[in-house]
Amino acid sequence: MFSVTRFGNPVIIMGSYRYNRNNRYLSGPKVFWTCSPKFAVSRFGNPVILIGRYRFNKNNRSRGPSAMWFCSKSSLGCRASIKTIDNVIIKESNEHNH
Ligand SMILES: [Zn+2]
Repeated sequence: MFSVTRFGNPVIIMGSYRYNRNNRYLSGPKVFWTCSPKFAVSRFGNPVILIGRYRFNKNNRSRGPSAMWFCSKSSLGCRASIKTIDNVIIKESNEHNH
């Protein structure tokens, strides 16, 4: 289902997932849609970011406004990570090996 955010940006909503149009690839007819991240709390009370079917755990060593988040499968060698400042994603490496 196509929709528009309150900021006027196009989104696709599929079930409980929401996809934002990726403005980095605006040339040509091809459009990328990236699943928008959801900030949540795990059942253990730890902060997590959910992107599609992937889950990122906050690195407990990060202090201050900036934080690193690593894929929940990082112990299995997945190197996907996210960097946030004030809970805004500024860098995303969303390449998983699973
Ligand atoms: Zn992963």
